[in-house]
Amino acid sequence: MSIVPFERQTNGQRVVFGAGAARSRLGAEIERLGSKRVLVVAGPASRPLAEELTARLPVAGFVADVRMHVPIEAAGRARDQAVSAGADLLLSIGGGSTTGTAKAVALTSGLPILAVPTTYAGSEVTPVWGLTEAGRKTTGTDPLVLPRTVIYDPELTLGLPDELTVASGLNALAHCIDSQWAPRANPVDTALAHEGARALMTGLPLVHADGKDLAGRTQVLYGAYLAGLSFAGAGSGLHHKICHVLGGAYNLPHAQTHAVVLPHVLALKGTADALTELLALYDAIGAPRALRDLGMPESAVGEAARLVVEAAPIPLAAAEQLIHDAWSGRLPS
Ligand code: NAD
Repeated sequence: MSIVPFERQTNGQRVVFGAGAARSRLGAEIERLGSKRVLVVAGPASRPLAEELTARLPVAGFVADVRMHVPIEAAGRARDQAVSAGADLLLSIGGGSTTGTAKAVALTSGLPILAVPTTYAGSEVTPVWGLTEAGRKTTGTDPLVLPRTVIYDPELTLGLPDELTVASGLNALAHCIDSQWAPRANPVDTALAHEGARALMTGLPLVHADGKDLAGRTQVLYGAYLAGLSFAGAGSGLHHKICHVLGGAYNLPHAQTHAVVLPHVLALKGTADALTELLALYDAIGAPRALRDLGMPESAVGEAARLVVEAAPIPLAAAEQLIHDAWSGRLPS
């Protein structure tokens, strides 16, 4: 590969990665950030875990109202809670929606975030925030929302249900693939994306076969970290633009939508070999295939294609074909 001139921003962040790290290192990492009053952000699914992990730590309160795409009202309430609790640190324990809630509070309060992810979404390594107001999602980039520290602990993902494991792992793989043609694509993020894709493609069949396979969980979480880094560095390409449109307009689940759309974008932009490899993985791990199974009505296909064309540089006929195939579950060949 010839190396073309490039620009790349390195984001300052401390990462602690390892099985058991959340239990053994969380206290020391909170201390390292100089925190005495921690506001814990954890949705219902991760609340018991969050209570266990923080039992002996200086907790000033819990934010339980975690919802996908972060409604602005919920962000405002969480921020008020941070102020009245006198919090000096936001500790997010959960998936991308939890990290997103902490980011929304950091955006207006300037409080630092320590993130402990429990899915493969990758939000914890990006300075990108998202908020929804009156049904419209706005996203932006601000270094204030980039977590100062991330603790990656594959043990926390052992209980992630198979359906979410597969979808979230493919969401991470989409970051690796889409970063190849993203606006800030560069050789460093391409290298991260290749290693991330290797780890994800090794680990996903293992964790689909046995969700308690710690070595497989470790591969997938490591892959998800690199995937998030490549996405943060290179930016988002055609795939993310399409998923953003679909998720926003039809309220589809984030990770599953990415999983369904990915082969169709790879068929348009990637090589035949890469597509063959991806389709073999989809077979092996029982990946979701159809937007209709996620709740998108057939009557929305035409409108969705028009919205995609407004957001992404592809011809209307190609967008219509892509959305219809993704809706019906007809895989590209
Ligand atoms: P999510 O956080 O909404 O979690 C999905 C479901 O899984 C929820 O019901 C949650 O409670 C449950 N869950 C999470 N961890 C679990 C675990 N270990 N065991 C059992 N259940 C668990 O979904 P997600 O896919 O992680 O994140 C999606 C959100 O993150 C979207 O809003 C997306 O826009 C955002 N996101 C943002 C960025 C960014 O850079 N800003 C990047 C990726 C995703």
